[in-house]
Amino acid sequence: MSYTKESVDVVLIGSGIMSATLGALLTELQPDWDIRVYERLDYVSRESSDPWNNAGTGHAALCELNYTPAGADGSVDITKAVNINEQFHVSRQFWSYLVDEGIITDPSTFINQVPHVSYGRGEKGRDYIKARHAAMVKNPLFKDMEFSDDPAKHAEWLPLMFENRGPGQVNGVSRTELGTDVDFGSLSRQLLTHIGGKGAQIRTGHDVTDLQRTADGWKVSVKEAASAESFDVNAKFVFIGAGGGALHLLQKSGIAEGKGYGGFPVSGLFMRTSNPELVAKHKAKVYGQAAIGAPPMSVPHLDTRVINGKQYLMFGPYAGFTPKFLKNGKFTDLPFSVKGDNLATMLGVAKDNFDLVKYLVGELAASKKAKYGSLEEFIPEVNPADWEFITAGQRVQVMKKQGKGGVLGFGTEVISAADGSLAALLGASPGASTAAPIMLNLIKTCFPQQYSGWESKLKSIVPSLGRKLHEDETLLDELSEYTARTLQIAR
Ligand SMILES: Cc1cc2nc3c(=O)[nH]c(=O)nc-3n(C[C@H](O)[C@H](O)[C@H](O)COP(=O)(O)OP(=O)(O)OC[C@H]3O[C@@H](n4cnc5c(N)ncnc54)[C@H](O)[C@@H]3O)c2cc1C
Repeated sequence: MSYTKESVDVVLIGSGIMSATLGALLTELQPDWDIRVYERLDYVSRESSDPWNNAGTGHAALCELNYTPAGADGSVDITKAVNINEQFHVSRQFWSYLVDEGIITDPSTFINQVPHVSYGRGEKGRDYIKARHAAMVKNPLFKDMEFSDDPAKHAEWLPLMFENRGPGQVNGVSRTELGTDVDFGSLSRQLLTHIGGKGAQIRTGHDVTDLQRTADGWKVSVKEAASAESFDVNAKFVFIGAGGGALHLLQKSGIAEGKGYGGFPVSGLFMRTSNPELVAKHKAKVYGQAAIGAPPMSVPHLDTRVINGKQYLMFGPYAGFTPKFLKNGKFTDLPFSVKGDNLATMLGVAKDNFDLVKYLVGELAASKKAKYGSLEEFIPEVNPADWEFITAGQRVQVMKKQGKGGVLGFGTEVISAADGSLAALLGASPGASTAAPIMLNLIKTCFPQQYSGWESKLKSIVPSLGRKLHEDETLLDELSEYTARTLQIAR
């Protein structure tokens, strides 16, 4: 038996970076709104947004090669990279606002400057990195990027990777100082603490079990783990920021816009070291090229991580497969997500993505020796005793209807009800780095009546709102300098 406990303006389901960012924005725009956050775990921000569950790359398309595909003629398309970088500038502005307003007092608790590097092996790899650099450096967003195929320069930039290589190595490397490492767990927790201080109630150990439409919003059914008691809350607006748990809740909402979607889970493993000698010799996030069939976001990379003020190196993720949708999920997550409306989508994806399935199964079966072998492509001499394996967060890639079948998406997708009373976020990449622009778009879509009244406040939070920085170099320079100064990172 459940009973209706209260009526609120906003329910945010999940306490990751997405709910935390939306909660913080809505608190700035409408401080009098009553906001509830429900989190099924006993702690906030411990799924994908936790720093050891994701790679912490501030995705600005500076180093990730999947955003810059090469055509058959070798030319490189940077359209996606420009879009991602523009979005990261929006995040930088939002985070700078938080620091300027004293909401976050020390930016190094969540963001630190770490150069971003792309690495192509052999002649083919070098030529691609060179062509990519040539295409990117023409755009004002990437004007500071450097390229080198000189082994001495590689050793200077990346001693751990290149110092002890023998002669005759052919590699292409591009590098920019503008990169960052971001602790999205710390950021989420600071945002939630802030909105909690402004009146939002954050309830951990509370599982949202159902969503039903009402005359003026949604009835949200919640189960409290400690008491096993269930109750309902009426909300005018609901955001399903449940990460891997979002698809099930979207399906429960029954909104027409959510029909046909499915989820494809990809698990991951990282390797980590805090050996001071290794950490001191590598200050960068180095992304390489994908193997055939590899999901683009699972290309292993060797990263400096800064967590709680301490530096580590992390390598991975090694992708794999489990049917769970959350790290703390259930093996029934995937089978229970199959419904009449998404079966064709899922079968279509399975049929067209044999390479991906083969890759994931291969990665799962790969021995520890093979995993060290992948690391040896970056560091010539690996001592296994220096490294430990840790389980990464779970990604759930979006499968959506296309024609009579389905297509697998690697991006992030917001699905909202036509009346704007509910929105859900599916997908993973570029994910946390772009939470701010994603939530700004969501606000525009879901709150059309309030939006014009909120616009000037939004422009004080994100001065470039509605403008493209690569089309206005003066504004780009001005805002890059402001955000770099405020966040204590490179411009
Ligand atoms: C291996 C890996 C590497 C990644 N690397 C990067 C990276 O380098 N850079 C980057 O920007 N992004 C990266 N991402 C993506 C990024 O981590 C995610 O986009 C982001 O953390 C998602 O935030 P979220 O708030 O949507 O979900 P989460 O952080 O997963 O939060 C969802 C919350 O909802 C809760 N929940 C679920 N169901 C319910 C329910 N029914 N009731 C109540 N609560 C519920 C969960 O317990 C969880 O706390 C990576 C992800 C993975 C898995």
